[in-house]
Amino acid sequence: MSLSFDAKGFVGSIAPPVVPAKTAYKAVPVKSVQAAARPARIASAPAAPGVAANPYTRLSRLKPLNPMVGESGSPVAPGGGELPPIASLPRLTFDQKRSVFKDLYIARCDRCQLSASRKSFVFGAGNVDAPLMLIGEAPGADEDSQGLPFVGAAGKLLSELLQGASLDRKKDVFITNILKCRPPSNRTPNDAEIVACLPLLHRQIEVVAPAVLLLLGKTAGNALLGTGETLGAMRRKKFDYRGIPTFVTYHPAALLRTAAYRADTEADFQRVVLFLKEASGHAV
Ligand code: URA
Repeated sequence: MSLSFDAKGFVGSIAPPVVPAKTAYKAVPVKSVQAAARPARIASAPAAPGVAANPYTRLSRLKPLNPMVGESGSPVAPGGGELPPIASLPRLTFDQKRSVFKDLYIARCDRCQLSASRKSFVFGAGNVDAPLMLIGEAPGADEDSQGLPFVGAAGKLLSELLQGASLDRKKDVFITNILKCRPPSNRTPNDAEIVACLPLLHRQIEVVAPAVLLLLGKTAGNALLGTGETLGAMRRKKFDYRGIPTFVTYHPAALLRTAAYRADTEADFQRVVLFLKEASGHAV
């Protein structure tokens, strides 16, 4: 196995690993993650004397059932409990970040069936200290072969978008995906795979602690934000992921299919850069 680190950041590599017994994430059955994330049963409030009980009270108090978010809408850790704001966690140095990522990379993951069919565990690449973190859907064939995210046709387009927004792919961003393993025939990730893979992504975001998150495509937006909204609806909003301003734009693969989306996507990238500069004082 080889791990490479460029001057500024972590680059996970390609070769098949020697997998040690120890894993950073304990396998948690999908059912128990879902159960832990499920809002507790809410009993109807007893009606005051002389007031008819409102049959809708209980329904109106229930939060949507989503395996990835808790009652307040915050992401849920495996085993339950909402995840804390990123800013409340201890800040890691550059070297500490690289060391945690190295451990996570070596530990890999076998929490879902995709680990059996993958060629590579596509952890992510870029600067662990980047102000901007990009999150796509899942590795495709090229990524699975090379062990790196966004290296195929969609990745080439992503590089163009970054360049157009004056962002350096090695210095200004850390890039990863919702899933770290390729789904067969590039199908859309299913809920069980997303639930199994999200804890690693939550941890990656905690480690990088970027100033801004940019989610690429509907699957990434829905999975991380725990919403069922359309891409069009998500694009118009600024979300909050554990205190980090979060934006959603088109997946680069969508631009390969529909070139007309490119102008909107370029505008979204510009908006994110402007936001980074104004709100966070980051010189990108
Ligand atoms: N599509 C993705 O969502 N991620 C990649 O890494 C490549 C293609």
